[in-house]
Amino acid sequence: RKKIAVMTSGGDSPGMCAVVRAVVRAGIFYGCDVYGCYEGYSGLVQGGDMLKKMEWEDVRGWLSLGGTLIGTARCMEFKERWGRLQGAYNMIVAGIDALVVCGGDGSLTGADLFRSEWPSLVDELVATGKLTESEVAEHRHLNIVGLVGSIDNDMSSTDSTIGAYSSLERICEMVDYIDSTANSHSRAFVVEVMGRHCGWLALMAGIATGADYIFIPEQPPKAGEWQAELKKVCMRHRDKGRRKTTVIVAEGALDDLLTPITSEEVKDVLVEIGLDTRITTLGHVQRGGTAVAFDRMLATLQGVDAVKAVLEMTPDTPSPMIGIVENNIVRRNLVDAVRLTKSVATAIEARDFEKAMSLRDTVFVE
Ligand code: ADP
Repeated sequence: RKKIAVMTSGGDSPGMCAVVRAVVRAGIFYGCDVYGCYEGYSGLVQGGDMLKKMEWEDVRGWLSLGGTLIGTARCMEFKERWGRLQGAYNMIVAGIDALVVCGGDGSLTGADLFRSEWPSLVDELVATGKLTESEVAEHRHLNIVGLVGSIDNDMSSTDSTIGAYSSLERICEMVDYIDSTANSHSRAFVVEVMGRHCGWLALMAGIATGADYIFIPEQPPKAGEWQAELKKVCMRHRDKGRRKTTVIVAEGALDDLLTPITSEEVKDVLVEIGLDTRITTLGHVQRGGTAVAFDRMLATLQGVDAVKAVLEMTPDTPSPMIGIVENNIVRRNLVDAVRLTKSVATAIEARDFEKAMSLRDTVFVE
């Protein structure tokens, strides 16, 4: 009987609970035992009660919930070999031979490293007498499947990450609230949204709320010139009779010399053209609340496919990441997806913005 552990790791996102629900129930349906690994990789390193067998009813009502009820954490120990060795020991003792990880690119990098190191970790556990040959006999290989939980929609090889549309929905609701007061007082608002290396949330929120101007890291404006451009665009809209001004700034917004563009700076520019301007930093409300229908669907379909992938894998199958491409649930090479994702950040650092844009899978408009 296959024993699969499921964990949520890194930054939380709406839909992670739905992932756990789908993995637990699909696992049981296909005749496996499913364990919840609590608090991300910390649960693996600590073992014992942190690896708990989950039953069908344990995930009742989890489909729509925000955040993750099995906890998530940033675990420094897992970045060290001794932490991963401890994790391997705890998994073997619990009889677990497959791991489904739902997290961002950091979590998936850790997952892949763990799988590639696994045979040597097992050898070390035997060599140091922690486990015997017979105890490890059925644990020579570890199957790992990645699911992408992230509000930023920042992973390559998938059109959408689990949680991104929920977060986008929350941002749009908040901008709608702000719009009423902005319209009433004829004010300008600078709205800062999450997205450190990825402007998807800012861009899509800007499109969905009809913002006047959007700042994203992938397509930075010219240093020293954006101020005049921003003034021109906002004045043009005002001249046409618009009573409000909305500028959306991604957390990671930059100019083309890679100098961060802050909400304060944007506000100062708007004040210079006589606009009564306020800043709203949306902060953690963007991560909260229930998952929208799309994320529930994505989490469920991908969670079920993750279990199927575990059951179909051989020791030679590269670790898959479950994605969605053109509305199909697909399996992609996890290592390639993580490498492509990192190459976007590298392209931005090298100021090759055209390349950064071309590496994004989702719609990024000119
Ligand atoms: P995210 O998964 O949202 O990108 P992090 O980058 O913080 O978030 O990664 C979450 C956790 O994944 C880390 O706290 C660590 O335990 C593990 N992890 C991240 N990168 C690595 C790595 N290179 N090697 C091993 N573990 C890693």
